[in-house]
Amino acid sequence: MKKILITGALGQIGSELTMYLRRLYGDANVIATDKNPNGPEKVLKSGPFEAVDVTDANKLAEVIKKYSPDTVIHLAAILSAVGEAKPELAWNVNMNGLYNVLEIAREMKLAVFTPSSIAAFGPSTPRVKTPQDTIQRPTTMYGVTKVAGELLCDYYFQKYGVDTRGVRYPGLISYDTLPGGGTTDYAVHIYYEAIKNKKYTSYIKQGTYMDMMYMPDALEAIVQLMEADPTKLVHRNAFNITAMSFAPEHIAAEIKKHIPEFEIDYNVDPVRQSIADSWPDSLDDSAAREEWGWNPKYDLASMTVDMLEKLREKLK
Ligand code: NAD
Repeated sequence: MKKILITGALGQIGSELTMYLRRLYGDANVIATDKNPNGPEKVLKSGPFEAVDVTDANKLAEVIKKYSPDTVIHLAAILSAVGEAKPELAWNVNMNGLYNVLEIAREMKLAVFTPSSIAAFGPSTPRVKTPQDTIQRPTTMYGVTKVAGELLCDYYFQKYGVDTRGVRYPGLISYDTLPGGGTTDYAVHIYYEAIKNKKYTSYIKQGTYMDMMYMPDALEAIVQLMEADPTKLVHRNAFNITAMSFAPEHIAAEIKKHIPEFEIDYNVDPVRQSIADSWPDSLDDSAAREEWGWNPKYDLASMTVDMLEKLREKLK
């Protein structure tokens, strides 16, 4: 990667990824784009920004041609909980947005990174140590678009030779930008509430395991996979990656080690609970480890130390 254009750059991943890549590749070589210019000042001011709606193929092509990047990191999407409330919007943004990116990549010979998700699995998928290649019959609109997106990326590689690569992210935890309406958002909100109110009411019930990852590992995964030797990649898109798997009571117990008064209680949201129930408990990420050296640094304990420290500073 030398010159990179990011879509959805003002979201939870994009706002941190843009800053990270600008440090690695130079401010001018990382072009941030999002639907509207409403987002963190540091992203908008530290390098190029363009307002681009990814469903507008002409505008997307115009901006890509203006900057001539070699790589597009496509993050613009509608996430799981919002997608269930607005399935038509999720289909339009997630499918047509990706199609538009892949078409321009084909024309201009660009590499494309796009994340899939644990949402690409469903209730009939093996739940524990979910294999890389397995049954994928998701029951959410978000999941449907993620599986279709995985297949579309494979298709563009096989049919047109577009250098498509991607991972299946678990729930991502970060302190910089709040998550955009996913099912794993509780694992971010719990840290904020622990610091602000010393208690948290979880919309996900006790005993619900989901895979999670701390943002620094999620960012590193992109760079590692995009810089990986293509001859070593047996898979290309949709690598399972994970760093930890826990249920709400486990994250609460970890927070309690640092904030002894902290308490968790539960008021389950049936929509998000049923989404969580349709996802794996834990992923097998051995293909990513073998093919491009995936090896996350943070576990629940080290992430909790860092999250609490960074949030205390932020919420002062
Ligand atoms: P987010 O909701 O925080 O950010 C998405 C960004 O896309 C927002 O800034 C939004 O303004 C933008 N966007 C929405 N519609 C757009 C459009 N039509 N045109 C241009 N931009 C538009 O999401 P995120 O957490 O940063 O997720 C980025 C990617 O990672 C998505 O593909 C998501 O499915 C995937 N992912 C995220 C997680 C997670 O836990 N955050 C987990 C698995 C996969």
